[in-house]
Amino acid sequence: MTDQIDRILSDTELRQDMQAWRHDLHRHPELGFEESRTADRVADLMQQWGIEVHRGLGGTGVVGVIRGEQGFGRRIGIRAELDALPLEEANGFTHASIHPGVMHACGHDGHAAMLLGAARCLAADRRFSGTVHVIFQPAEELLASGARRMLADGLLDHFPCDAIYAVHNFPSLAPGTAGIRTGPITAAVDNFEILIRGRGGHGGMPHLCIDPVIPACECVLALQRIVSRSIDATDACVLSATMLQGGDAPNVVPDMVRIGGTVRTLREEVRDHAETELRRIAGAVALAHRCEAEVRYVRGHPATTNSPREASLAAAALERVLGHGQVDTQFGPVMGGEDFSYFLQQMPGAYAVLGQGGSAMIHNPSYDFNDAILPLGAAFFVAVVHAELSGTHAP
Ligand SMILES: [Zn+2]
Ligand SMILES: [Zn+2]
Repeated sequence: MTDQIDRILSDTELRQDMQAWRHDLHRHPELGFEESRTADRVADLMQQWGIEVHRGLGGTGVVGVIRGEQGFGRRIGIRAELDALPLEEANGFTHASIHPGVMHACGHDGHAAMLLGAARCLAADRRFSGTVHVIFQPAEELLASGARRMLADGLLDHFPCDAIYAVHNFPSLAPGTAGIRTGPITAAVDNFEILIRGRGGHGGMPHLCIDPVIPACECVLALQRIVSRSIDATDACVLSATMLQGGDAPNVVPDMVRIGGTVRTLREEVRDHAETELRRIAGAVALAHRCEAEVRYVRGHPATTNSPREASLAAAALERVLGHGQVDTQFGPVMGGEDFSYFLQQMPGAYAVLGQGGSAMIHNPSYDFNDAILPLGAAFFVAVVHAELSGTHAP
């Protein structure tokens, strides 16, 4: 079976096909829950290879089912994303987006092509026991979360998985390297909005007003003390107040000031604590200045938390593909978010990052996925399936 990994890495035709699929998806990017053409493409290709295809989970989600020819066994999910970002592409190459204001700036075109490459190889050589569920999810970039929608639509009732795996490209790691860790690898992502309400009036007669500007400024500073003074220094938490809006004229005290920002944490207890403290501080600071605070705290994706067995299995698979010493098993965590976390709340699994190099970071209008790593990603998924379903790791 290990021969198949070497074959994938040296298969010129597969590499060219994956690149062609990737460029086609890149030229035709679609936003979350609107990925109908993209879903058609991946479904058509899998059907051509004799893979049983199911459509419609989570709206535009696609699931391929590949059964091993060596009988029943574990059921393994491998997952990629379908969606692009609302961003105007700055690249001028021939596969640049033809849709104004929409762009594959996170490399989900590359992830989909790698997963397709793996699916084609697994469908062609089914010498394993058990079942592979090839999961293409919509809307990873949206807070509405395509992963959560697929789960709500009964993904696990129809396609139960004993473990699930995914990989994301990472421009700041060199091609040919990868990163993974046991435990949280990306953060929980929460956003907040605080409205400080007073009573506006003449800027020259503030004693006749209830000024919301001063408590808003104090509130931004006081919120910084949540991280620095109330959370264990060994526990990660980031609180960024990124919006401060209020007032329209130099001689007018406004009625209201709006503060907005984001909170990133790795553990649910820290997340709960940050929200409780944010609400308490906003309310108390406003009250101290005779104002009122209205707080909206919106919980987004939870932390992406890799389970130990699956993280070590994925690390070994990455090593098999990339070579000894090329995998950082203490990578991160990074304080960005990822909706694969919803899958990992329901089942064990692992999420890794695959180095891709390049000068542009993801979500940048000059970004492009590096085609050179397509075979590495496809080989990773196949290596994970072999490790799970050929008996080298007992369930
Ligand atoms: Zn992204
Ligand atoms: Zn992404």
